[in-house]
Amino acid sequence: MSLLSRLKNAVRQRSIHVCYVDTGSCNGCDIEILACLSPRYDLEQYGIYVHNNPREADILLVVGGIAPQWQEKLLMIWNRIPEPKVAIAIGNCAISGCVFNRRDALIDPPASHIIPISAEVPGCPPRPDEIIKAVLSLAPVVFKDWEERHS
Ligand code: SF4
Repeated sequence: MSLLSRLKNAVRQRSIHVCYVDTGSCNGCDIEILACLSPRYDLEQYGIYVHNNPREADILLVVGGIAPQWQEKLLMIWNRIPEPKVAIAIGNCAISGCVFNRRDALIDPPASHIIPISAEVPGCPPRPDEIIKAVLSLAPVVFKDWEERHS
């Protein structure tokens, strides 16, 4: 393995940039993601940085049941994230629509119908430690030796 690949492996697993989009949630899942940033969970101690810039992201967190105005935007955001990248559905709404998955609701879940979802964190809402665990367990598997596997 080249020095550059070894360097990229090391950096990617210690500095994970997470872009977070809310596609129409009740804000319950948003609050749990925000709680990950609080001193109690201290997400950044693991080298995970949350922001809203897809061009600098490695992981996309998707929350909410996909409101109509989000169907095209979610794909657009996904396409702006450079490879290697993964998406994680956070909460039951992004996975199945949860309580909003009714005939008269405007949402159109799941997120996996629009972009490839690599992991799901169920719950209404999921706990912050479950969200952190999903990011930390998925990132090394996806990013390790990515160049070598895709060359
Ligand atoms: S999964 Fe539950 S908490 Fe999360 S957005 Fe849906 S209804 Fe709200």
